[in-house]
Amino acid sequence: MKHGNIGLFIPHLGCPQRCSFCNQNRISGAARAPSPEEVARLLEGAVRAPGFDGAHCEIAFFGGSFTAVDPAYREALLDVAEPFVRRGQAAGIRLSTRPDCLDGPMARHLAARGVTAVELGAQCMDDGVLAKNRRGHTAEDVRAACRAVRAAGLELGLQMMTGLPGADRETDRRTAEAFVALAPDTVRIYPTLVMRDTELCALYEKGAYAPLSLEEAVEQTAALLRLFDSARIRVIRVGLHPDESLAKGWVAGPFHPAFRELCESRRYAALLGEALAGLPAGEYRLGVAPGHASKAVGHRGENRRALAERGQRIKVYEDGAVAPYTIRRM
Ligand code: SF4
Repeated sequence: MKHGNIGLFIPHLGCPQRCSFCNQNRISGAARAPSPEEVARLLEGAVRAPGFDGAHCEIAFFGGSFTAVDPAYREALLDVAEPFVRRGQAAGIRLSTRPDCLDGPMARHLAARGVTAVELGAQCMDDGVLAKNRRGHTAEDVRAACRAVRAAGLELGLQMMTGLPGADRETDRRTAEAFVALAPDTVRIYPTLVMRDTELCALYEKGAYAPLSLEEAVEQTAALLRLFDSARIRVIRVGLHPDESLAKGWVAGPFHPAFRELCESRRYAALLGEALAGLPAGEYRLGVAPGHASKAVGHRGENRRALAERGQRIKVYEDGAVAPYTIRRM
């Protein structure tokens, strides 16, 4: 059964400063934080929906710095959410926060209140890049927060951004390797987008920042997916969710509504290239893991087309005996 979230956005509350790239109101579509009463109504509605399965659904507070919001508001939100977990109407509570706003006592408190997973907005593990983007924390803060999350028995998630001002492909690869060393359960990868009303937008408009092109972001993210996959770390999100408010706030940068599909397709392009390297023109029957045929033929068939141009026609079949991201010639 697929896992799902009841997502609740808490924009900007609790953030001690504004990061260079951040306009949370645009990204989340939420102009203000919900009241505890609104959260209660939303959760009641969600659990009454036909087909709702609490055993496979978490309550997720995203978007701000949950552990740094006004304690009274934070506890009021937990007072609303925790009973859903205790009654078995939700599998747990997932939240995101800043690495410098989570220590051991706070992590233990969250665990006692029904929280099961904490995602840390680490973004980059290079102190120079963090400072340049006004993150207000260091890579060591990320490591310390990871230790606190683990010691409290919580699931650990890490979020990274690629293409930030001051970063290059090498910096981003080192961030991913530092993440692997921290052994998170999950990772999210967000190529940096230039959003309206941000410091980054001002830099972009005066020519002091150039975002990754879509092609660069796809190529880089495909490599990062490979790296996390080989470390058996689940990447649960790639690229920002395409919605109306994001589209309105987006100024520049590698946004695509099917960004993950493009990256998965790119991974298979490399695998197909290896599997068919040096082989003559002709038709090839290839087996891939269940659910991977569309990734293998590529976004809108781009991989199949590229091979056809060099005379290699492929027929792709799903086969339960084939591992994900491998190709078997049949
Ligand atoms: S900590 Fe997160 S929510 Fe707060 S300003 Fe930075 S990116 Fe935005």
